[in-house]
Amino acid sequence: MSVKIVGYEPMRIAGKKVDTEGRIDVHYPYTNEVIGSVPRGTAAHAKEAFEIAANYESKLTRYERQQILFRVAEILNERKEEISDIITAESGLCKKDSLYEVGRAYDVYTLAGQMCILDDGEIFSCDITPQGKSRKIFTEREPLKAISAITPFNHPLNMISHKIAPAIATNNCIVCKPTEKTPLTALILADIIYEAGLPKEMLTIITGLPEDLGDEFIRNENIELVTFTGGVPVGKYIAENAGYRRTVLELGGNAPLIVMEDADLDKAAELAVSGATKNSGQRCTAVKRILVVEEIADEFSKLVLEKAQKIKYGDPMDPETDLGCVIDAESASMFERRVNDAVEVGAKLLYGNNREGALYPPTVVDHVPFDCELVREETFGPAIPIIRVKDIDDAIRVSNSTAFGLSSGVCTDNFKYIQRFIKELRTGTVNVWEVPGYRIEMSPFGGIKDSGLGYKEGVIEAMKSYTNVKTYSLPWL
Ligand code: NAD
Repeated sequence: MSVKIVGYEPMRIAGKKVDTEGRIDVHYPYTNEVIGSVPRGTAAHAKEAFEIAANYESKLTRYERQQILFRVAEILNERKEEISDIITAESGLCKKDSLYEVGRAYDVYTLAGQMCILDDGEIFSCDITPQGKSRKIFTEREPLKAISAITPFNHPLNMISHKIAPAIATNNCIVCKPTEKTPLTALILADIIYEAGLPKEMLTIITGLPEDLGDEFIRNENIELVTFTGGVPVGKYIAENAGYRRTVLELGGNAPLIVMEDADLDKAAELAVSGATKNSGQRCTAVKRILVVEEIADEFSKLVLEKAQKIKYGDPMDPETDLGCVIDAESASMFERRVNDAVEVGAKLLYGNNREGALYPPTVVDHVPFDCELVREETFGPAIPIIRVKDIDDAIRVSNSTAFGLSSGVCTDNFKYIQRFIKELRTGTVNVWEVPGYRIEMSPFGGIKDSGLGYKEGVIEAMKSYTNVKTYSLPWL
């Protein structure tokens, strides 16, 4: 089925459409055809945008912000087919995934709209100790000077929405740099947000290459917060170069799904396969390793294989497709190589690993050694590697053995096991009988170890990180 040709889209700098001589082509990963292009912005564009953001003071009331956020959600809903077409065109994610993503973004804006009318102040009475006084201390939250947001390719709409919606809710001005791989959705989103009534100074989308303007997004003097979602190497680069300013870093993952001997194996296999393949396996919380207790592993692996074989993969624009392609052929060929390397050290390939360009099928590999590259690193595609473990101690040891610590899922009804997993798994999230990625858009979300510094995202936490707390005190009777 034919893909949507999006065409050329200029940058949106505080609402102004800005062109440059240099252009970046955007490809449809399924066919590699060019479906659009964007300007190759420069550091000077970013500088101008941060200057505008830092000098604009929003006067929007909570009610006005709420109405803008609700209106954005409504427009997304009204135009969901068109927007999902753009996501699919630039990312190769199948229509089922891109439609789901528009629904998630709808949730982000409606939840931010509901949160922003709640007062976030606290009150502390001071007459509570022998040293006390008849006073009260009050708190309020103030917006920052300017926020820099840098986002990855895997959810072209939802990742940037998780940056922008909390900014609107907290009266902040934000300058965003979507990835050069999937920048088009963000530009269309900006128009929707302006149409919903946001003062244009409060939102800018700059497109370009990291080597041209990356540092300006980290070091510009007007930036008080860099909020970044992406891979570990860039996250660590930002941590080292941002200097004296706040950073929120949401980085890569390597999520285990652990299946214990008492588990309902059919239900566990369903979670394993959907968790590993939804969004083409390109979610930071996708199932990247399935740790199964030896005594049930043969039966479990058979069920996983059956379910993986039922996945309809191919043409991302076909509404029946379950699994589109990955971001580019280069990534697919890296997955293929990692699987081949695993097979060389004893893994058994049961299905898949025959890529065509950026189309990489669900790939089931059993008996994977826990320390080979396929499962030690983040394999950001629909591989389904099964690692056999002896018991719960072994499961926890293997699970904690990588550098990542984003999320995890466990399949067991044994309460003692559940308590141990919650306590001992070194991840930001432990989901019992759910995929590791399960969340709602406002619950705290984020990782530890190489996956993040423990600061959370999700609408509520992001609203906190986007503000400074001011206290003031008054005499009180
Ligand atoms: P990436 O790190 O390659 O790129 C992310 C963004 O950083 C892009 O916009 C890119 O242009 C920009 N960038 C690259 N170099 C830069 C520099 N020197 N200075 C400033 N910006 C720079 O990530 P990706 O390949 O687009 O995305 C996939 C990764 O994102 C995976 O590792 C995935 O796990 C991670 N991710 C994490 C979360 C989370 O919430 N923890 C969510 C989604 C994706």
